[in-house]
Amino acid sequence: MSLSFLLDSTEDLSLSTLKSIKLKKSLIKLMALNGVATIAELSKETDFSIPTVTKVISELIGEGIVSEDGKAGTPGGRRPSQYGINPKACYYLGVEVKLHSVNIGIQDFNNNFVHFSENVSYTPENTKESLFTLCSIINQFVTDSGVQREKIIGACINLSGRINSRIGFSYSYFFFEEKPLSEIIENQIHIKTFIENDTRAMAYGEYHSGVVKNEKDVIFVNIGWGLGIGIICNGQLYYGKSGYSGEFGHSPVFDNEIICHCGKKGCLETEVSGNALLRKFKKALENGSISILSGKKAIEDITVEDILTAITKNEDTLAIQIIDEIGTELGRFLSMLINIFNPELVILGGALAESGMYLRLPIRTAIHKYSLSLVSLDMELKMSSLGSKAGVTGGCYILRDKLFYST
Ligand SMILES: [Zn+2]
Repeated sequence: MSLSFLLDSTEDLSLSTLKSIKLKKSLIKLMALNGVATIAELSKETDFSIPTVTKVISELIGEGIVSEDGKAGTPGGRRPSQYGINPKACYYLGVEVKLHSVNIGIQDFNNNFVHFSENVSYTPENTKESLFTLCSIINQFVTDSGVQREKIIGACINLSGRINSRIGFSYSYFFFEEKPLSEIIENQIHIKTFIENDTRAMAYGEYHSGVVKNEKDVIFVNIGWGLGIGIICNGQLYYGKSGYSGEFGHSPVFDNEIICHCGKKGCLETEVSGNALLRKFKKALENGSISILSGKKAIEDITVEDILTAITKNEDTLAIQIIDEIGTELGRFLSMLINIFNPELVILGGALAESGMYLRLPIRTAIHKYSLSLVSLDMELKMSSLGSKAGVTGGCYILRDKLFYST
């Protein structure tokens, strides 16, 4: 049976149904986070009576979520049964929509990947046709995965731009006014659907299974085609009032007459982003600079990926020089965030992070130069360890949280 009801709104439920769902969620969470437990232990932890816990556990066994995991090892006397989560009982689906492709994956109940596809060709456009194409890609992936659709407890779709995940509206991509985007997608893929900002999901992926160890105050910097940040405060994702926090790339810091795709002039990402890297690199070639890519490709056909390859594989001087300039500018403006937030950790992720130390070193130097030394000495600067899996992983953890922590 489908368990997505555990993610549904509980507003209209009767008190007894609400209590039963709350207890179910508490038991699932306890076993998922702490491992196997006896009925007595679960009863003590949840403050519900043994008969009530026994009844709900047998329902969860019937639903395939819980299984009996052998007997507890207490010496002497009758040994009580232990119960634990079946990792194959439920799955999470994460989808990250990028400028020219989609990353998509399924994780089991223990947040381990069972399927992952990277860079599936797709270019989002603000039309329903384009949205339905995305839904077809998701449907095909689910079919090919062999995972039963009804066992997928939820889907988290990560998009760039302004996302209000609480009401399910996206305002930068697929904004159709009449219905929340999450509802339109849900009707197409028949899986409970949530939408999330792409950078925020990447930050959460790194937080749970990436480079974050014990840090609780973290800023994740996504340097892709644009520039955004995901903020984690005291171990929680920070959303702001409507979910629009983290639009660092649209800070008006340059007097450069370059129109940003947001419609404003002089945004940080007009000079610090994959888009800026491409523009600066092409301009340098047009002005006569030489690169390993000179003569290999028409200037207009060069891509951000070509430049990143020139940096990482060929140590191309021109490309390194431009990424160095971008890193210095980014470090200067990150100093502002570091002074304000006093984070323990700043993570560099997104496509440009593939350039590794060529990006990290100028950022590090600029942070030392421009931020308050007491504050910058308090923090570490690390590269993302999940790379292209960060967004999908984060989406799956966001779904897990909705199951464990929503009321
Ligand atoms: Zn902008």
